Amino acid sequence: MEKFDVIVVGAGTGGCLTAKTLAKAGLKVCMIDRKEEQNIGDKVCGDAIGKHHFDNIGIAHPSGPELDQIIEGIKVYSPDMQTEVNVKGEGVHGYLVNRLLFGQRLVKEAKNAGVILIDKTVVTEPLIKNRYVVGVSVKDLKTEEKRELSSKVVVDASGHAAVLRKKLPAEFGIENEVKDEDVEVCYREIREIKEPIDEPGFCKIYLDLKRVPGGYYWIFPKSPTTINVGLGVAMTEGFPNPKDLYNELILSMPMFKDSKVLTGGGGLVPTRRPISPMVGNGIIIIGDAACQVNPIHGGGIGSSMMGGVKAANVIIDAIKNDDVSREAFWSYTGMFMEAYGAKQAGLDIFRMLLQRLNNEEMNYGMSHHLITDDDLLKTSMGEDLKLNITEKTGRLFKGLGCLSLLKKLNTTAKLMKEVKELYRNYPSSPEGLNDWETKVNQVFENAKNL
Ligand SMILES: Cc1cc2nc3c(=O)[nH]c(=O)nc-3n(C[C@H](O)[C@H](O)[C@H](O)COP(=O)(O)OP(=O)(O)OC[C@H]3O[C@@H](n4cnc5c(N)ncnc54)[C@H](O)[C@@H]3O)c2cc1C
Repeated sequence: MEKFDVIVVGAGTGGCLTAKTLAKAGLKVCMIDRKEEQNIGDKVCGDAIGKHHFDNIGIAHPSGPELDQIIEGIKVYSPDMQTEVNVKGEGVHGYLVNRLLFGQRLVKEAKNAGVILIDKTVVTEPLIKNRYVVGVSVKDLKTEEKRELSSKVVVDASGHAAVLRKKLPAEFGIENEVKDEDVEVCYREIREIKEPIDEPGFCKIYLDLKRVPGGYYWIFPKSPTTINVGLGVAMTEGFPNPKDLYNELILSMPMFKDSKVLTGGGGLVPTRRPISPMVGNGIIIIGDAACQVNPIHGGGIGSSMMGGVKAANVIIDAIKNDDVSREAFWSYTGMFMEAYGAKQAGLDIFRMLLQRLNNEEMNYGMSHHLITDDDLLKTSMGEDLKLNITEKTGRLFKGLGCLSLLKKLNTTAKLMKEVKELYRNYPSSPEGLNDWETKVNQVFENAKNL
């Protein structure tokens, strides 16, 4: 049986950064992906990444053919299209990338660091021995041959598929399933339009809770005439087919008249707080497989790379100390929660409120700027939700019969603060987990009952 120090399952954005960091430390690393090497990176995605991720992770910013468009800001539109929230500033500066070329760059960097890529090979399940993950079973899609690969540590970076996480026995104490209601199901196309779009430097997000329940539709320019356009809906009972909805809602927009589709497809993204814990004996879970995605906008490229680098650093120490137990990896979950998970947990509570509002409430809230444009940016960056509720707004909303919306917003802001505090204080050892989970569950129960 082939043996490695670490097997990374999935060569997406998270997997590549994990594998590269491990190989640079001198470990023998293999990275497995079901796709053929030349297609790795080609994913149905909004293709948008914040600039800050490149600085924080320490990788080169996209340039040349990898860079499609520089993004200066985001505009969010109310369901009645009467209010435009303009989110600008350092925090939202970013890029629309050519997803395939970006992915190919990351694979190349990993390989240059010494990672052995095994492509066109599907991982089917974890190998478990004496309560440790000790490798994976794989099937070569070129030859149909099945084999086993062994390693000291396995990283599940298989994205939403979470092929290993879903198959871990209960004794690992890792959440196997993510609820459907916490997943967005999306349909997206890249289209060439006839007339150049106004403001190609702005990503536009449209809210319509009646027609696009629990999600939004987006128009992200890749150039003045090439548009990444799609929509996502929450996978709650009876959710509409996103492709039908796309055809009806998006293709009827005047800007898409006589446009040409370059590529299209569907995708799933988990939009909730991260799983807890993200570690077990011999295994660490990162990226979408660990739900490391922003629950509000569904962006997860940057956080998957950040999660991957942090996981790699914990693995390097664990292998050095010859201890790859759950306890040895334990600090990873807390480290991630501190850096990003706490913000996700807060935004998850906010998402739960937003998904339950109706269009009228959303229109009222946005037109009266209950959250200012600046504060919306700060909230999305992880700061506490600050509400712009004056005595005058209170009187106005009472008159409109919308006072309950203000109350719900106030309670949501309080719960967001509470849950962030809990996530920032993730238990430093497995012993504290039960107590922590009880407190977290209570906050989410309160949010559900709003
Ligand atoms: C429609 C849509 C729009 C999005 N828009 C944005 C956006 O604009 N900005 C943003 O930041 N994020 C966006 N996201 C989220 C983003 O794509 C993910 O968060 C990010 O790609 C996560 O990276 P990852 O490495 O965890 O997983 P992935 O990038 O999904 O990589 C997982 C890899 O694992 C491989 N794999 C899966 N199963 C197996 C298996 N059994 N065996 C072997 N290999 C396997 C896959 O082939 C894949 O290469 C969007 C997602 C969707 C669905």
